[in-house]
Amino acid sequence: MTCMDTDSQVVYSTSGPQTIRCVLVGATQRLKAGGIDSARLDAEVLMCHAIRVEKSQLYVSLDKPLELSARHRFGDLLIRRLHREPIAYITGCQEFWSLDFLVTPDVLIPRPETERLVEISLQCAGAFDGDLPLRIVDIGTGSGALAVTLAKELPRAQVLATDVSPAALEIARHNAARHQVADRIQFRASNLFDSIREHEFHIIVANPPYVRRGELPALAPEVSQWEPRTALDGGLDGLDYYRRIVGQGLRHLLPGGALIMEIGAAMGREIMELLGAAGNYTPPLVYQDYALNDRVIVAYAVSPNSA
Ligand code: GLN
Repeated sequence: MTCMDTDSQVVYSTSGPQTIRCVLVGATQRLKAGGIDSARLDAEVLMCHAIRVEKSQLYVSLDKPLELSARHRFGDLLIRRLHREPIAYITGCQEFWSLDFLVTPDVLIPRPETERLVEISLQCAGAFDGDLPLRIVDIGTGSGALAVTLAKELPRAQVLATDVSPAALEIARHNAARHQVADRIQFRASNLFDSIREHEFHIIVANPPYVRRGELPALAPEVSQWEPRTALDGGLDGLDYYRRIVGQGLRHLLPGGALIMEIGAAMGREIMELLGAAGNYTPPLVYQDYALNDRVIVAYAVSPNSA
């Protein structure tokens, strides 16, 4: 049989088992026909997973035959992707801040724009007294991406990571162990601050659900059909969780402590107003991500005396 590699425009003839290149070409076509834009890339990632090699190794193996068992494994992965399952759930991993995180459909897949929240949190952390433990709470930790990354980057951080979902906490625990920071992260099932009695945090971080309920069906099928709705649905106006975090957060921050939240691109002004109306926060700052969308908001707790 023959196959055409559309990227290099070379025709390959094979007899017997198909080469990896040939299988990749067929898979790319199927994924494209299935409406998946990143078809070639996805086919390559799935192939790497099926034959258990790194990308660089794949490129030097393209003309090798694909064994039948690997062919079947790859076929199963391809079908999952055609059902629009995200690559990260199929492979079970997602890179965030150059760290490899276990992810399952119990947790939101960490997004690159959330790395911006890490950058800003690290800047804020630098302003606190360098000798003391830095107490950080991550509200709705999901995969633990924020809690683990901050613990990794800040050796003096003591992190409390909470989530309402016990299944998510299991994943976060696994990620903390994987990155050797489990000894500095405490995990706790909590609906926002409900099970948090500690009051003296230097930093609260949160990437709460913020998609407006009516906009959920319009998200990519990878998101709307596969990612946990509880991690996305921010209520009718998308602001439900901000109202609660802004209101309750103050009670848990030290004077001068920072509330740092990821926000939806169009929500900066409304969340600034929420913070302003809560009183006892400094005027908030909104930071953009690298796509120039508003993405992170920061406000500090003022002490009740100086407010
Ligand atoms: N950034 C996510 C999205 O685009 C939403 C994440 C969230 O709600 N915290 O779907």
